[in-house]
Amino acid sequence: MDGNIFSAGFSVLWHNQIMSLNVNLRHLETRNVTLRGELSPEELDLDVRDEMIRVTQPVEYDIEIEKMDDAILVQGGLHMELECECVRCLKKFSRRLDLDNWTLHLPFEGDEKVSVENDCVDLTSFVREDILLEFPQHPLCKPDCGGLKITYGKSMQNADKHEPKPSAWTELNKLKL
Ligand SMILES: [Zn+2]
Repeated sequence: MDGNIFSAGFSVLWHNQIMSLNVNLRHLETRNVTLRGELSPEELDLDVRDEMIRVTQPVEYDIEIEKMDDAILVQGGLHMELECECVRCLKKFSRRLDLDNWTLHLPFEGDEKVSVENDCVDLTSFVREDILLEFPQHPLCKPDCGGLKITYGKSMQNADKHEPKPSAWTELNKLKL
């Protein structure tokens, strides 16, 4: 019994220690590799400059990697949920980012050549860059959000002046009928 508990704990720890999205080029020699998993906010370490956006959820990836003669080709999807605050009405909402046809072409030679360490290529920085490009510039809860002052002011007036009395009478009328 104790042994089982310890081994379960160990596997969780081991999983948490995978710090990046690495591809081993040797595994690509004979066939394509499919990778599915998550990169936590800590692993991604996004440089978010917008105060209205918070990264609390991981990026999910589902990608296929192919080794060509002079490059590696990565294709697949990246998905993530952002916590945003509307710049007009300050309402909190979540915004889903879906990069369904994410593609990377990483050449082995030339100016853009990808860095290879111990036969491994780290894809984390590419995910980081492309996810950041998808961030909303000025997050809005909905495209035509009327903003804080207008909607809030109106509903307060209505609530104070009009709604309580008519609704009370309506309830009384209902009872009488
Ligand atoms: Zn809004």
